[in-house]
Amino acid sequence: MNNQFCKYDLSKEILESLTILNYTVPTKIQEQVLPEALSGRDVVGRSQTGSGKTAAFAIPLCEEAIWEENTPTALVLEPTRELTMQTKQELYLIGRKKRLKVPDLIGGFPIEKQIQSLKQKSHIVVGTPGRILDHILRGTLSFDALKSVVIDEADLMLDMGFFEDVKKILDTLKKTPRIMLFSATIEEPIKRMIEQYLKNPVFIAIEDTLEEQNHIRQEIYEVEEEDKEEESNSKYKMFLHVLAKENPDSCMIFCGTKEMVNVLCRKLRRDGVKAGMIHGDIDQQDRIRTVEGFREGRFRYLIATDVVARGIDFDRLSHVFNYDFPTGRETYVHRIGRTGRNGETGTAISFVTSADQKMKRMVETYVGYELPINIYQQGTAEEEKPFWDRQKEKVVLKKKKGEAFQQTIMKLTISGGKKSKMRAVDIVGTICSIDGILAEDIGAIDVRDSITYVEILNGKGDKVLNALQVKTIKGKIRKVRKTR
Ligand code: AMP
Repeated sequence: MNNQFCKYDLSKEILESLTILNYTVPTKIQEQVLPEALSGRDVVGRSQTGSGKTAAFAIPLCEEAIWEENTPTALVLEPTRELTMQTKQELYLIGRKKRLKVPDLIGGFPIEKQIQSLKQKSHIVVGTPGRILDHILRGTLSFDALKSVVIDEADLMLDMGFFEDVKKILDTLKKTPRIMLFSATIEEPIKRMIEQYLKNPVFIAIEDTLEEQNHIRQEIYEVEEEDKEEESNSKYKMFLHVLAKENPDSCMIFCGTKEMVNVLCRKLRRDGVKAGMIHGDIDQQDRIRTVEGFREGRFRYLIATDVVARGIDFDRLSHVFNYDFPTGRETYVHRIGRTGRNGETGTAISFVTSADQKMKRMVETYVGYELPINIYQQGTAEEEKPFWDRQKEKVVLKKKKGEAFQQTIMKLTISGGKKSKMRAVDIVGTICSIDGILAEDIGAIDVRDSITYVEILNGKGDKVLNALQVKTIKGKIRKVRKTR
């Protein structure tokens, strides 16, 4: 197999999943974390969004998981629901060939449903600290088989006041697990947590290098402070014309405050530009929907604050706009690092007011070069036409991550269920008697009252479907069809 992950001596299932996901070359953080994490060592990691950090811990956790085990071998703590969903997806896809179950436990969702799902097998649990603690205290989550804990985005966890819950969770564990902690910064309380809970951890830091920023065209526009719409050179008008001239395929637009995100989104929509927004005051469900919509390409421009966008991964952003200039020099580097990834080119455009000049100079000292000033020239109607035409185009949805997996899975509906005493073993028995079909080709089996669903993996769906037209299950030929 021509996959560089081969060198880590991973199981066949995990390697196959990585290949389907098109992960063939480890990223820098993966290069450093994987050998240590796979050997069971505690890890402290510093790296940015987009570095492949999630897979760096997800691969060892999936490798370590044992399908036969009924209670989780790993727990991943995340500060937000969006990050929980994103990490769950990565674990689910990497563990797909091992058929790992990865329940998410997050606040704001019905706890009863989560309790029901925990009664079934679960291999890796991902969630926010408050809800995880709630389950532990209710006795609905057993960590008897737990081997590893991941504390992701620890500094954000600290900022959001979740640290006490994280400690309480760690204190409830009977055996000390292996811990992997990831954080953008290591403040004093994080340092103390590392000293108290981690055993001889290896410290791994991956910084964004200047070399990587070479792929990013950076420009700034100097603007007036206030935003008076009537003025043709107001910040908003200038931004809109620059946006139209650039006509980005997809971009993130950063604002300094939630209010500004609201205002900018409202203005863009009013002017006929399809944009989405996320910030801390937006309902969680709406945020998740917006993030998904942006990933699917339902709209091209996502307006966000730094905090809420933290850790959320978006593929192939052609542009980043700093509508409001960042208030920290690292923030500038993190924001622009969202474009121009994997050797692709990207564009980062910043609007700088006189109040931002000091921070601009600090950024320049930090990155070691001057940010080129662009003299604003409004584009002609002809130049802006492609942008405005685009706003009227019908949306073509992008392929979802993991779609390659879906293409290899076929779900079958079989007549007969609990009422006729059908059990999962009956289905497995018959399907495994088909020539060329192994137990590992069978995915989830769901026996309902008078119907049963079964997933056939590895592109063998048609073969099983045909064979089951003439083979008996529990003594009878059943009606079997593809589930719609
Ligand atoms: P993360 O920093 O964990 O949010 O990951 C950033 C993006 O890189 C995600 O979309 C991952 O699916 C993707 N990714 C992670 N590892 C690899 C790899 N080795 N090769 C290609 N893409 C990867």
